[in-house]
Amino acid sequence: MIVGVLVELSNKNIDKIFEYLVPHNLEDKIKVGVRVIVPFGKMTLEGFVLEINSVKSTEKELREIISIVDLDVVLNEELLELGKVIQNKTLATLISCYQVMLPKALKAKCGSKINIKFDTIYKLNNYDINLEKLTTGQKAIIELVKNKEKVSKKELVEISLSSLKTLVKNNILLEEKIEHYRVLYKNEKYDKKELSSDQRMVVNEVINNSRNIYLLHGVTGSGKTEVYMEIIEHYLSLGKTSIVLVPEISLTPQMVSRFQQRFGEMIAAIHSALSDGEKYDEWRRICRGEARIVIGARSAIFAPLKNIGVIIIDEEHSDSYKQSDPNPRYSAKDVAIIRSEYHNCPVIFGSATPSLEVMARACKGVYKLLSLPNRVNGKKLPLVKIVDMNEEMKKTQGYFSNILIESIRHCLEKKEQVILLLNRRGYSSFVSCKNCGYTFKCPNCDITLTFHKSSNTLRCHYCGYGEKVYKACPSCSENSLSNLGVGTQKIEEELYSLFPTSRVLRMDYDTTSKKGMHEKMIQAFKNLEYDILLGTQMVAKGLDFSNVTLVGVINADTSLNIPDFRSSENTFSLLSQVAGRSGRSIKEGFVIIQTFNPEHYAIELTKTHDYLSFYKKEMVIRKQLKYPPFYYLCNIRISGKDDNFVLAEALKIKRSLERNLNETIILGPSAASIYRINNIIRYNIILKYKKTNNIFEILEKIINHYKTNNKIKIDVDFNPSQML
Ligand code: ADP
Ligand code: ZN
Repeated sequence: MIVGVLVELSNKNIDKIFEYLVPHNLEDKIKVGVRVIVPFGKMTLEGFVLEINSVKSTEKELREIISIVDLDVVLNEELLELGKVIQNKTLATLISCYQVMLPKALKAKCGSKINIKFDTIYKLNNYDINLEKLTTGQKAIIELVKNKEKVSKKELVEISLSSLKTLVKNNILLEEKIEHYRVLYKNEKYDKKELSSDQRMVVNEVINNSRNIYLLHGVTGSGKTEVYMEIIEHYLSLGKTSIVLVPEISLTPQMVSRFQQRFGEMIAAIHSALSDGEKYDEWRRICRGEARIVIGARSAIFAPLKNIGVIIIDEEHSDSYKQSDPNPRYSAKDVAIIRSEYHNCPVIFGSATPSLEVMARACKGVYKLLSLPNRVNGKKLPLVKIVDMNEEMKKTQGYFSNILIESIRHCLEKKEQVILLLNRRGYSSFVSCKNCGYTFKCPNCDITLTFHKSSNTLRCHYCGYGEKVYKACPSCSENSLSNLGVGTQKIEEELYSLFPTSRVLRMDYDTTSKKGMHEKMIQAFKNLEYDILLGTQMVAKGLDFSNVTLVGVINADTSLNIPDFRSSENTFSLLSQVAGRSGRSIKEGFVIIQTFNPEHYAIELTKTHDYLSFYKKEMVIRKQLKYPPFYYLCNIRISGKDDNFVLAEALKIKRSLERNLNETIILGPSAASIYRINNIIRYNIILKYKKTNNIFEILEKIINHYKTNNKIKIDVDFNPSQML
């Protein structure tokens, strides 16, 4: 028997199938999709069996595989095929496309070995025992085991270890090992809600015409989550499974707990806070069909579920669904569509502020548009007030306008709660000298260092470089260094001086880095232990607090100033999201947005919650500037150590593209906006095109041309989410 094996070395050069012989004693255990250990040159490598053949295709003498790693396949037929499609769409190596699908515990390069854990349990073997012959300890054990199906070792050892041993030796008790899962789910009581007629219509549309791709455009608080759960329940009753993607699961604990309450052990929630062992356990529960609803961030789209009934992508506009680094640079939304074709199931993209790409497809009828235009129970969307900070800065010193201060005071008096957003996108706190203007930069990268108060250090967020903060400026020696840019800590201080008796809960990267902290904070705020929740982007999403009646945005503009064609879209969407946290229950909500650009349409239109007007305006601009959704983009990154060499090769590539591509706009090469990272120089060439034509073929040729050249690295990113 001969097998084709793809080895675990992500190198363009050897990303192909190699043939091996299978020793006779392993023949009946070998399957397509299991991992094997093989000799490779002088190395021993792990690889995936992709083919089983009866004849060899080369003249060369074949070597034998050493052993088989898995009893069961780790990549089923569907996923093996999916990997090939992703390879074609991203031009990454096939092995990287398979690796991205598997939990870390299954990767050869995973540092520590992750084991399956077992519990020892006991069952009664012989029911007709003569109790009189037994000791008291033995009797107590039998009593316990008799009434339960299985009892753990720990419980019985507490009674008597020696009695337990005797009972096992005499074959009265049977000892068994069962797998122990590290994550536990509770079955809780869940009050199912009577759906509104709008919600019911959406649910019926999906379950009756189940092959479509849908865009569910529903304002914040319109009951989208409730709709998702109803649809999932329908497919569950048909014996089918579901995938739900959320942008960042650790930031949406409220949503996950609603799913858990309703579906209990049917759920596997995969998130970054799980240990590698926990992720591995969840993955096995999914493979075995024990978990039938998977909730997770981007990579959960590869969950090895069989018989999928529906795939839901919530907050579809989030850029977290695109993997931008490393390879494969895939979009979970594309993968969802590919999987839905295999399973013949619907896909639902949900959002209050859909991405322009998805909305444009919905308007053209490629996707089917479903709307929930109103909040549940006729609740109104909150009133939004936009405050011009150009005017306010003449009157006040701090970060708060008078109207925001007054509104917070009013809210606190009524014993209602406040959420404050500090928009930190594209923004970091850096240190500079007030005297000479010196700023601290990373010696390896073209980027200012970020100040970390807790450790009093300056850090580079790209290469990890760090240094202690000096008192004096290294350039002019004056003691005039200042920490520019506001952090949440500074705002918190100002809040306490304005409202000394208020209870402020600060939620940002620093305060939530400990496992479980984020959830605890949300619970505490819900229990009214705090009056004001102050935080970065993480307070904008998915939170549902009934007592919040005021949302304040300290600085709406920072995300507008990023040099990215999506900055207006991102700003509009962020402001709409955070505004949607206000007035979600009986009490009416109010939103105050502080900005230096009150007339900018991305800010002005949040006032009327007018997504459609925003969409129309932004589409005009995208059309003029030839951006998505009118053109596709592809970013080609050319990088290397030697400045001149990299630029010269980039120019060659550009000329070759010009010769070979028709109907394509070719921009660059231009220095990437972060020109140097870790002493690697980076140039970008950007392609804009309407039809794919021969682009994949030409780019593949270029990648292949450079694959043995270790002075140049070529990366391509189709539909990039960012082009730093
Ligand atoms: P979205 O996901 O669109 O923001 P949710 O599903 O979170 O909306 O619903 C908003 C709030 O309304 C939640 O507190 C939810 O429990 C409640 N809700 C949703 N649908 C109904 C319904 N049909 N009846 C009563 N309450 C509902
Ligand atoms: Zn650096």
